[in-house]
Amino acid sequence: MISIEQMALVLDALPDPAFILSRSGKYVAVFGGRDARYYHDGSGLVGLYISDVVEKTKADWFLEQIKLALESGNLLVKEYELSNKEVDGVPEEGPQQPIWFEGRVQGLDFLVDGEAVVLWVASNISERHEMEIKLRELSETDQLTGLYNRRKLESELALHYEAFERHSVPTSILMLDLDNFKKINDTLGHHAGDKMIKAVGSICLSELRQTDIPCRLGGDEFVIGLPNIELEHAIQLADRLRESFNGELSQFHGEGFDTTVSIGVAAMLPADRSYEDTLKRADSALYDAKRSGRNRVVAGMPQYPPAVLQNVVAETFSLHHPGSLCPPA
Ligand code: GH3
Ligand code: MG
Repeated sequence: MISIEQMALVLDALPDPAFILSRSGKYVAVFGGRDARYYHDGSGLVGLYISDVVEKTKADWFLEQIKLALESGNLLVKEYELSNKEVDGVPEEGPQQPIWFEGRVQGLDFLVDGEAVVLWVASNISERHEMEIKLRELSETDQLTGLYNRRKLESELALHYEAFERHSVPTSILMLDLDNFKKINDTLGHHAGDKMIKAVGSICLSELRQTDIPCRLGGDEFVIGLPNIELEHAIQLADRLRESFNGELSQFHGEGFDTTVSIGVAAMLPADRSYEDTLKRADSALYDAKRSGRNRVVAGMPQYPPAVLQNVVAETFSLHHPGSLCPPA
C-alpha cells in the first residue's frame, strides 16, 4: 500500500497538469504538469476563479464544459487553444507559442465546500495538432502547383452551392485547359511541360483573392471557383487571367508551338441541382472554346428555350467585351 504522502507525490509527478475545478470555476487544486518544455506552472491559480483570470468568452466556455461533464457524468473530451498570456497568474516560463490542449473532464463523486467538482486533465497536443493541419493541407493540395486538388474543390463547391441555394450568394466557375500542351511535352520534354503548369499555378496564386478556389484537376486542366462573383464579372476576370497566362506562357514559345489558354465560364443557377451541373456547364463551354479556335473565353449558358436564351445572352453580353469573349457557339 502506498501512503497518502506517496499518493501526493504521485499526483505531482503526473506528466500532464490535472486541475480540480468546482462548478462555479474555482481552481480547487492543481497537480502535475511540471515540465516547462510542455506546460506553464498552474499552481499559482489555486483559490482563484476561472472568470477572474481568463477573459469572459473563454471563461464561459470553460464553465460550460464543466457543467456538461457534471450533467452527463461521462468523460468529456474537448480540444482548445490557450496561451499563458491569456491566463493571469501563470508565469512566463514555459512554451512561448499558444498551446493546443486536449482537455479530458470527468465529474468527481464528492463535493468541495458544498460544490460539485470535476477533474480536468489538460494534455499538450500541439505537435499532433500541427501534424493534423499539415496532413489536411497535403490531402487538399496539388503537389506540382501548390493549388487545391479535386477533393478540396469538390468540398468547397458543395459548401458554396448550399450558400447559393439558401441565400442566393452567387458563385461562378472557370474551367481552364492549356492549348496545344502536348506539343510542348513532346518537343521540349515533360520537365518543360511541368514548368509551364507551375507557371499557371503561380499566376492563380498571385492574381486571385484569398477566398477564390484555384485548383488543378490534373494534367493541363484547372478549375477556379469564384465565390460572390456573378457570371458577367467572372467572364471579365477570365479574360484578364487568360491574358496573364498567355503573357507568362509566351516565354516558353518557340518555333512551331504557341501554348495559350482556353477558358469556359459558368455561374450557379437556380435550376442547378448541385455544383456539378454548374461544373458541367463550364466544361461544355470550355469544349466550345476549344472547338471554336482556342485561346478564348466562352460562357456556358443553361439549356433555356431559345427565346429565353436570347434574353440571357443579350443581358450577359450587353456589357462591352473584347473580341475574344464569345457567347456559346
Ligand atoms: P488541347 O489544345 O485540345 O487542350 O490539346 P493539348 O495538346 O493541350 O492536349 P490535352 O489537353 O488533351 O492533354 C493534356 C496533356 O498533358 C496530356 C499529357 O501528355 C500531358 N500531361 C498530363 N499530366 C501532365 C503532367 O503532370 N506534367 C506534364 N508535363 N504533362 C502532363
Ligand atoms: Mg490541353
